[in-house]
Amino acid sequence: MKLSHRITHLTGGGSDGWDVFYRARAMIAAGEQVTELTIGEHDIRTAPVILEAMDASAKGGHTGYAMVPGTDVLRDTVAKRLSDRTGVATTRGNILITPGGQSALFAAHHAACDEGATALYLDPYYATYPGTIRGIGAVPKAVPTRSRDAFLPQEDVLDAAAKGATSLLINSPNNPTGVVYPRETMEMIARVCQRHDLWLISDEVYDTQIWQGEHISPRSLPGMAERTLVVGSMSKSHAMTGSRCGWVAGPEEAISHLITLATHTTYGVPGYIQDAAVFALGEGTPLEEEIAAPFRRRRSLAQEILAQQTLIRQIPSQGAMYLMLDIRGTGLTGEEFANRLLDAERIAVMPGESFGSAAAGHIRVAMTIDDTAFAAALQTLSRFAGEMAAA
Ligand code: PMP
Repeated sequence: MKLSHRITHLTGGGSDGWDVFYRARAMIAAGEQVTELTIGEHDIRTAPVILEAMDASAKGGHTGYAMVPGTDVLRDTVAKRLSDRTGVATTRGNILITPGGQSALFAAHHAACDEGATALYLDPYYATYPGTIRGIGAVPKAVPTRSRDAFLPQEDVLDAAAKGATSLLINSPNNPTGVVYPRETMEMIARVCQRHDLWLISDEVYDTQIWQGEHISPRSLPGMAERTLVVGSMSKSHAMTGSRCGWVAGPEEAISHLITLATHTTYGVPGYIQDAAVFALGEGTPLEEEIAAPFRRRRSLAQEILAQQTLIRQIPSQGAMYLMLDIRGTGLTGEEFANRLLDAERIAVMPGESFGSAAAGHIRVAMTIDDTAFAAALQTLSRFAGEMAAA
C-alpha cells in the first residue's frame, strides 16, 4: 500500500552525520568498551522521592483517563512557576500539559502554522526540528548562524529569512551549542518577530541548566506574550526523560485550540506522572540545582582541560549538558574527527554535521558520564586532536 508523502518524507533523508552514533551503538552491542558522549540524557535516574510520589498516586487510583489539558493542580503549578520566573501573569488557561517537550514542539507548530507555511529554525539545531515542522505540513527553513558569532542569530540574516515566514523556533539554553542567548539577542529576536508578524516558538527545556549568564524567556519581553508559545519539559530539569511530561505555555486562545488537538491525538498525560511532576516542581530550585550540578562540575573540568591547549576552540559553554568544540584546527571535518576518535580511542561524540551545516567542523560532547571518566575522555580527546593536527 502506498504510504503518505508526509510520513515517508518526515526526515530529509541522507546520513546527516548520525553514522558514527549508530556505529558506536553497534560496537557496544558487540561487547566493546566505548565511552559514549553522544546523547543528552543524565547518568542519574529519576530521584526516588519523585518515584515515591508517582507510586503513591498510581496506587491511590490515579490510573484512569486524566484531564486532557492536564490536571488543574499541575497546570496551576506550571503557571505559577512561569509567573514567578518571568513576571508574566500566567494562569491555568495559558498551559497545556503534553507528553514531553517533543509533543509540545509539535503542538506549538500546529497552532502557529497552516499547511505550506514557512517555519523558521536556527542552524545548528536539535535533530527533530525540521521533521516536527514537516509533520504538521509546514515547510522548514533553516536560518544559518556562525561559529564566530557563538552561533547567535544575527539580525540581518534573520530579517531576510523572515520575509513571508509564519513562525520562528529558537532554543536557549541551546542544544547542541550550549550557548545561552543574552538579553540583546532575545530583544533582537522579539523585534524581528514583531516586524514580520511571526509566532515565536521558544524551546526552553534546558532552562534550569545555566552555567553563565541568565535564562531570559522571550515571552517576558514587551509585546511578546501574545505571539510566543513556550515549550517546557520535566525531562532535563528533573531527570524525568522517560516520564514524558512537558507543556506548552501561550495565549489562552491558542491553548484552547491545542486542548482540542490533544483530545484528538495524545488524549493527555497519565495522572500519576502529572502528580509526580507536581511533587517534583514543588521541591523548587534546590532539587533542580542538584540535578544540574553534575553538568556544572563537568563543564568546569572541561574548561580546565581545554585551557591547556589552543588547537580546539570551545564555543562559550553557558548552559545545557553539551560542549560544542571547534576542531577545524585539526584539518578534519566533524564527521572525520568523530569517526577516527571512535576507531582509535573508543570515544563516541556527535559530529557537528549531525545538527545541520552551520556546525560543520565541530563536535558536540555530551557531559553525561561520571566526572573521572569524563575528564579522562576529554584529556584523550585533546591529545588525539593534537595528533591529528600533526599528522
Ligand atoms: N528540545 C530540545 C532542545 C531537546 O534537546 C530535547 C530532548 N533532547 C527536547 C526538546 C525534547 O525533550 P522531551 O520530549 O524529553 O521533553
